[in-house]
Amino acid sequence: MQCPKCDGSLEPKQYTDIQIHRCNLCAGLWCKPEELTKMRGEWMSEVELDSGDPRTGARLNKVEDIRCPVCGIALDKESDPKQTHIWYESCPEGHGIFLDAGEFTDLKFTTFIDVVRDMLTRKRGN
Ligand SMILES: [Zn+2]
Ligand SMILES: [Zn+2]
Repeated sequence: MQCPKCDGSLEPKQYTDIQIHRCNLCAGLWCKPEELTKMRGEWMSEVELDSGDPRTGARLNKVEDIRCPVCGIALDKESDPKQTHIWYESCPEGHGIFLDAGEFTDLKFTTFIDVVRDMLTRKRGN
């Protein structure tokens, strides 16, 4: 599958019973919603799976108009309900979710910094 954000290709990646795809260039992750839930509960999954450079992820996070590698329709941008600074893309047809490099690690750990950052964002009126 072609990576929705760059010229790389999404290659299968397995960790324990979790099966996702990872881009061979930008290290973005493509996974099913149920796999993401499993990944969040798995010890060390972020080290094994989210090995990309967060700086690349931050740059690609700004790419607009990206399409589902399965069905080709535009992906919806969604923010995590608990960590609203994290934006990821998901297929409205449920084919998967795309996380930029570093985003899964960020999602998995709600840090004190996140709490403060979200409070500041809300204060600004967003
Ligand atoms: Zn890529
Ligand atoms: Zn799709």
